[in-house]
Amino acid sequence: MGVFEDIFVKAKAAAGALGEKAGQYVDVSKMNIKLAEFKGDLKSEFENLGKIVYECEKNNIENRSGINASIAQIDNITLQIEELKRQIASIRNKVICKSCGSQNEVDSVYCSKCGEKLSESSKNNKKTEDDFSEFDD
Ligand SMILES: [Zn+2]
Repeated sequence: MGVFEDIFVKAKAAAGALGEKAGQYVDVSKMNIKLAEFKGDLKSEFENLGKIVYECEKNNIENRSGINASIAQIDNITLQIEELKRQIASIRNKVICKSCGSQNEVDSVYCSKCGEKLSESSKNNKKTEDDFSEFDD
């Protein structure tokens, strides 16, 4: 166990020195920013829908088209949020080959492109799941 830990620590240090995952972190953080923007848009659209319904009820009028347009917009934003979440999850579950930079499944042992042995250090991708949880409802 001690030897394994030693290798793990060294591999981790090497990975950090090479900055092999820097690009990946940038992509995920950009996506998280975009995700936060979508969530803001969704909140605004729900407020908009609330206003439309309020005006209708208060003035005893109908605004079916306004309500339908707002619902369509909410559904659209929700779809984009789901798609973005899928993309983020997909990147998270990849291991970046330090030799050629291609993405591999997280449980892969060797790179599917160049055959390089994928290091244990790549598996610490998993800990970033906690960073993402704040965006879950
Ligand atoms: Zn490779």
